[in-house]
Amino acid sequence: MATIAQIELFPVYLPMIRSFAFASGSAGKAGGKAPHIFLKLTDSEGGVGWGEGRPVAGWSPETLETVSSVLRNNLAPGVIGLPVTDRWGVHRAMQRILGRGPSMGHPIARAALDMALHDLLAKRAGLPLRAFLGGSNQRRQMALSYTLTGHDRGSIREEMATGAAAGFVHFNFKAAVAPETDIEVAETVAEEIAPGGFVWADANQGFQLHNARRVAQAFQAIGVDMLEQPLPADQFEQMRSLRASTTIPLAVDEASVGPADFFRYAAAGLVDYLVVKLTRSGGIWPTMQQVAIAEAAGLPLLVSGLTDGFLTKMAACQTALAFGFAGPAALNGSQFTDESMIFPAKNEIEYNGSVNLSDKTGIGVEPDEDALKAFAVAI
Ligand SMILES: [Mg+2]
Repeated sequence: MATIAQIELFPVYLPMIRSFAFASGSAGKAGGKAPHIFLKLTDSEGGVGWGEGRPVAGWSPETLETVSSVLRNNLAPGVIGLPVTDRWGVHRAMQRILGRGPSMGHPIARAALDMALHDLLAKRAGLPLRAFLGGSNQRRQMALSYTLTGHDRGSIREEMATGAAAGFVHFNFKAAVAPETDIEVAETVAEEIAPGGFVWADANQGFQLHNARRVAQAFQAIGVDMLEQPLPADQFEQMRSLRASTTIPLAVDEASVGPADFFRYAAAGLVDYLVVKLTRSGGIWPTMQQVAIAEAAGLPLLVSGLTDGFLTKMAACQTALAFGFAGPAALNGSQFTDESMIFPAKNEIEYNGSVNLSDKTGIGVEPDEDALKAFAVAI
């Protein structure tokens, strides 16, 4: 049986084309650079798979330096030689190497490796990833959610017109960045959105309990469909208090790293959705465990990302479609980063506010390795 033979890393900085701030930090400023790391996994029989990580400063503790270091010095040496089919064993090895704590450590580093392994295995099986994971290749379209960054009525209207013209039906906005404008922004989105559109508010841990209560009440009256991560990720007990005071659908993101994290929120009845996010959760294998918990708890899915690159976006769409979820997915990397040099064929797959998967095997796209080599930085 083929074993993991080689792991190569390509840390790169992609150009930011638009600024993106959220309550706990920023994914970067227009004209700045966004750190990504691409991982090429080769097995003992020459099979190849690709993975990616996108650490976002302030969103979680990981950085390009920690992801590179953990992969190069800890995870890669610990998984070389393991059978490629043994995803259970690979994740067990990663857990042993990094140590077990109250939540999963270094999930973005783990996710890059896990994603590459799944890409390789699906290619070996001759299947698109969604079919390899247990779904049908006939489910191929994922509706994206357009991310709004403005904080007043005029700019939200303008951004929504741009999104609608590009084929988007669903819209998400960042609450708690300029809190005095949250109600105005929510009202504008609810007014302007077309029927069937999903109004998604994400507070990125930005509220204290009293403000979360106030905003949840107002958002519910306005017609916001879901409020994500209203409170700091370590304030589990405050979520109980918030839940008791509102029936607006709630979700957690930063607080839902490993499967056990999500289980705790689902078991306590504090969330109405699972927000699938591959890199936050250590990759596809742990995400499938979260999905199983959501299904057992009767909770529907949403998908989001970390302004991920196109590889992660495709992997997330493949994974969610395997479980019948077709959107909305707030996979908004295309709004904020220019990755045309690495994924020149991207526009043939992502258009009209959606990702349209083909029957290509594996994740369905590969980064241009020459471009990666040209852009790779020494870390
Ligand atoms: Mg979020």
